[in-house]
Amino acid sequence: MKVAVYARVSTEQQASEGTSIDTQIEMCIHKAHALGLHQIEVYKENGASGEDIQRPEMDRLRQDVAAGKISHVICAHPDRLSRDLTDKLIVCREFERKNVELIFCDTEYRNTPEGQLFFNLQSAIAQYELSMIRKRTSRGRLKAVEKQNKIMPMRCAPFGYDLVDGKLVINEEEAKIVRKIYKWYVHDHLTLREIGNRLVQLGVMPKRKESKHWHQSSISRILTNQVYIGIYLYNRRKTKKLKGEKTKSGNPKKIYEYRDESEWVNAEVPAIIDKDLFELAQEQRRKNLTNTGNAKYNYLLKGIIRCGHCGRIWNGTTYTGRRNKQTGQREKYRCYRCPNKNPRKYGEGGQKCPAPTLRAESIEEYIWNLILQTVADRDTIVTQFEKSAESVNHQLKETMEVLKGKIKHKEKEREKVKIMFRREVISEEEMTRDLSVINKELKALRTEAEALQVQFSENVKNRHEEQVAQVMDYVEKLVHHEADLPFDKKRRIIQLLLDEIRLSFNEDQTQCEITCAGYLDTLIKHRNIDSSRQYQKI
Ligand SMILES: [Zn+2]
Repeated sequence: MKVAVYARVSTEQQASEGTSIDTQIEMCIHKAHALGLHQIEVYKENGASGEDIQRPEMDRLRQDVAAGKISHVICAHPDRLSRDLTDKLIVCREFERKNVELIFCDTEYRNTPEGQLFFNLQSAIAQYELSMIRKRTSRGRLKAVEKQNKIMPMRCAPFGYDLVDGKLVINEEEAKIVRKIYKWYVHDHLTLREIGNRLVQLGVMPKRKESKHWHQSSISRILTNQVYIGIYLYNRRKTKKLKGEKTKSGNPKKIYEYRDESEWVNAEVPAIIDKDLFELAQEQRRKNLTNTGNAKYNYLLKGIIRCGHCGRIWNGTTYTGRRNKQTGQREKYRCYRCPNKNPRKYGEGGQKCPAPTLRAESIEEYIWNLILQTVADRDTIVTQFEKSAESVNHQLKETMEVLKGKIKHKEKEREKVKIMFRREVISEEEMTRDLSVINKELKALRTEAEALQVQFSENVKNRHEEQVAQVMDYVEKLVHHEADLPFDKKRRIIQLLLDEIRLSFNEDQTQCEITCAGYLDTLIKHRNIDSSRQYQKI
């Protein structure tokens, strides 16, 4: 690759223009050397007008650039390339596109009005070209979809199809299953869960072979994807990177935005389901969605109930009862249920929990009554909180004593090392090494002790005073029979008093043992309420 030096002067103006062609060349070569560039090729244009871009040496330079022979073009002033702004821009773009670096000796040019216009236009044109290239490629892709029905952005064909040479082709085996799924859903009114179980019974595996079970969402996708009625819409969405935000895996976060509908492209795909059946499925889906209701319910024990059988935290959910024969309505109940009871994955690995579903009212009432029974008087609570805080403090103190002992021991060790050095038992190097180890350990111990001290004072202050005050405030009202506490206050009390409620059922699920962890447990014990007995099934 060579460095091109281009110089031009017109015959008539040679004298008046001041800078002779040799001076120009000299300036350029000097610039090249200053930049550490050698292997210079000079393009010397004698007596050619600046109005016309067609000049012998300019043509030669443009050819060499096009051939990829040139890495840099050095020129005294942009006017040497052309007097005409448009020509100047054209030539510069030509060079830039070949990754040629254009250098002008006259650095002041950038600061002149014309220079600013030139550079602004230059970058505007570069931007414009870039967007044209982008448009062209995405339009090219769209053309491929429009003309040949080639679906390119897909990695894995939807269930029921195979991706052959960029086109979706019906996979008859899978298409049969798709038709069955629609039939089950629309005519037999099966739920997604029931469909999933049937698929597993039939030994049908989802498309991606690595997954061994059907997920509710994949069945739902089959029931909503328009591809099954022969519509594949492409170019619907565009991605937008969110600046500065990253996903968990460290990639830039993206959001999707829908393009205008006019930009969508429909690729024709062979249909598996007829339109009427598809519409019925959508209707069924809408019904199901409104039936399960997006209505929000309040759950007093949300996140607090732990399954005694599989250890998971139960969900607050709803249960739809049988149809009332008179009204034809299905009643809904709030309830709590172990998430492992009906895992959303069907097939291998889906372990069902034997714990039954519980009606929310009954267990909430039970727990609330337990609270009412225990927190009936102020003194009990205050004493309990104090006792509890004391025992925590006691533990903290003990830990602190242990830490202090360790620190003392380390300090003694440090002294020993110094003595050993003084008595010349160990070298200076050995002493430094040993001391650095001991100092590190000491530092860690002291940090631990400081943290403990903070914990200690916080425990004395906050935990005790604030919590007692809060509970007392509520309890006072309770005692005075302020019967209907709003949900959030009840919830707050429960959160303060209960860390966890553990439910364990006997084998035939007729009895349930309820164990409470948290302050409530201490209170129960203090009041001699027997909570260890088995409770009737709720
Ligand atoms: Zn469970």
